[in-house]
Amino acid sequence: MEQGKDDLMEKVIALCKRRGFVFPGSEIYGGLANSWDYGPLGAQLKKNIKDEWWRRFVEHRDDMVGLDAAVIMNPKVWEKSGHLATFNDPLVECKKCHARFRADQIDSAKPCQACSGKDGFTEPKNFNLMLKTSLGPTEEKASTVYLRPEIAQAMFVNFKNVLDTSRKRLPFGIASQGRAFRNEITPGNFIFRQREFDLMEFEYFVKPSEWDQHFDYWLTQMKQWVKDLGVKDEHVVYVPIADGERAHYSAKTIDVEYKYPFGQKELYGLASRTDFDLKNHFAEPPYQDPETNEKIYPYVIEPSFGLDRSVLVTLLEAFTEDKENDRVYLKLPKWVAPYKVAVFPLLANKPALVEKAREVFNQLTSQPTNQLTVAWDDRGNVGKRYYSQDEIGTPFCVTIDFETLGEEGSDQAKIDTVTVRDRDTMKQERVKISELPAYILAKLSE
Ligand code: ATP
Repeated sequence: MEQGKDDLMEKVIALCKRRGFVFPGSEIYGGLANSWDYGPLGAQLKKNIKDEWWRRFVEHRDDMVGLDAAVIMNPKVWEKSGHLATFNDPLVECKKCHARFRADQIDSAKPCQACSGKDGFTEPKNFNLMLKTSLGPTEEKASTVYLRPEIAQAMFVNFKNVLDTSRKRLPFGIASQGRAFRNEITPGNFIFRQREFDLMEFEYFVKPSEWDQHFDYWLTQMKQWVKDLGVKDEHVVYVPIADGERAHYSAKTIDVEYKYPFGQKELYGLASRTDFDLKNHFAEPPYQDPETNEKIYPYVIEPSFGLDRSVLVTLLEAFTEDKENDRVYLKLPKWVAPYKVAVFPLLANKPALVEKAREVFNQLTSQPTNQLTVAWDDRGNVGKRYYSQDEIGTPFCVTIDFETLGEEGSDQAKIDTVTVRDRDTMKQERVKISELPAYILAKLSE
């Protein structure tokens, strides 16, 4: 990244707080360590990513169907899936201050990060990341349940339900989006590692003999998605995970890693999970080949996308300091931007301007395709409003001025036209109000 790396992270976090993308969680009570709340702009940006993912991978394909499953499942699911026994991270403790760390994330030969002590660390022991709670009025062992640490298992346990109702044939996928919970030993780096986070995943079921060609296909699709988020090629690395380092169920894994300001770490993952999960949950092969009548356990390819990490890399990529023009702007891909367009009456205290601007605002928000989120700003001077919209990544600003109204002395050719200003080039164009929605929609899809 061109800018100072630590700097960049701090600047993005500060902008997120200042402009209402992401706030520290429970802030008025002193916060809750490493929990974050998405504010108005962050919620919209996150929703745009989530919706586009669903459109692209579910709605626009006939080989994919959706599932919206419960967070709390029968604990037997986690027993069968192996999570209760093996969803662990290696935990070590500083012998001096007792701070706890993930053994694979520190250099145990170095002093403790928390107290700088040189007493060393305990031997690693397994720490289970499942978050427990209990259902019902009594807190006895029988009522213990877990908040799901991944969303995949619901897609496996519902495999027969989905198959029987959707009548899909291999290859086909089940997709899901939703919250997952992990009692991470060391959360941190803003929204990169939290104890609750959102996942977008699908399980793509294939004939066992064909899994590698589907794996390659989904890798290509993931690469395209990463590009469309605005991530520059030189910031992303596709890392094949070696034998012995993969999860026990995986025949092949590629980690999609991003060069964050705090180091190169996982953004997404692509795994071939073989028939491990379906075999865990179904005593009989759950799929019958319609041509051969053979009963089989399909193999599965799992592309896994962390939504919060998607938001983080999008913001890191988009943050731009334009020294020449003395401004900071988010060069977000237009489809990601929380607001697509902002509407300004030149002066807030001229009712005729405000009224006309309201008409333009209503015209834009009532587009039948429902693609336009529109901001309204009538405070301060127009220069400041541009600066403010640049900082949140709004691609276009529309100003209604005296020429729009055709007031005396103004150029009559400009009646019922507005100024449209482009976030990236800062260039302004005069556009007829009647043509404005089509103009903006065309620009957004460029
Ligand atoms: P890591 O190695 O960073 O702990 P992981 O290999 O455990 O990640 P997966 O189990 O593959 O992660 O989870 C799927 C995706 O969920 C990751 O690619 C990442 O985008 C996201 N993710 C995982 N853990 C967290 C977390 N604690 N906070 C936010 N996102 C997360």
